[in-house]
Amino acid sequence: MSKSDSQKSEGLYIVVSAPSGTGKTSILRKVLRMCPNLLFSVSYTTRPRRPGEKDGKDYYFITEKAFKDKLDEGEFAEWEENYGHLYGTSLKTMKEFLQNGFDLVLDVDWRGAKTLKKNYPGGVFVFILPPSRSELEKRLRGRGVESKENIDKRLAKALDEIKEIVWYDYIVFNDHLETAVDTLRSIYVAEKSKRERLASKIKEFIAL
Ligand code: ADP
Ligand code: 5GP
Repeated sequence: MSKSDSQKSEGLYIVVSAPSGTGKTSILRKVLRMCPNLLFSVSYTTRPRRPGEKDGKDYYFITEKAFKDKLDEGEFAEWEENYGHLYGTSLKTMKEFLQNGFDLVLDVDWRGAKTLKKNYPGGVFVFILPPSRSELEKRLRGRGVESKENIDKRLAKALDEIKEIVWYDYIVFNDHLETAVDTLRSIYVAEKSKRERLASKIKEFIAL
């Protein structure tokens, strides 16, 4: 995978965090379809596959042993445990895509996001919020893939996670889905248009 030299400049990575049930997957699917240069960073996980999920597309589903081997080999840019399962971002894949000029969106929890912010400067950090607490609960139950006990756990965790929004760059409210999609896409477009990210492209104009 590579792009022509004229298009080549380092890609941008966007981290999107949200408590589960907020609608992050729904928003990301739509934004990714609209932005061909923006690719989804597929994480590794030890959690079992949910109905409809595809290996290599939603996650790389691997065993705990395989995950720990990767960890020992320093393969992860960041990794965390969520609900008893391990999740990690491949450093090699991340670098490969960014160096080839592709932009990446990473679906990572706030702890992973914090590690990335500290170790890999230049990322954009977006937190998606539900319109209200009661709507979050309704959406979590609406997914229908978890036991009541798991949903209660996710809800309590969600309210704790939301406290972390203070250090994120952008907040997107997912009230109306299409508006949230438009907002996230606009954040991406605006970030790509920042002068400092376009230094190599504007050089020829100001070097006159
Ligand atoms: P997450 O990836 O954050 O866990 P999902 O995208 O799986 O969330 O969405 C959780 C549930 O909420 C799904 O049933 C989805 O269809 C629904 N949902 C997502 N966004 C909205 C929205 N803006 N309005 C109403 N329902 C939504
Ligand atoms: P789910 O099991 O619902 O797909 O994801 C559970 C949580 O794990 C979500 O908060 C999601 O953002 C997070 N997650 C998914 N992939 C990664 C990853 O690679 N690293 C970290 N730190 N969290 C991840």
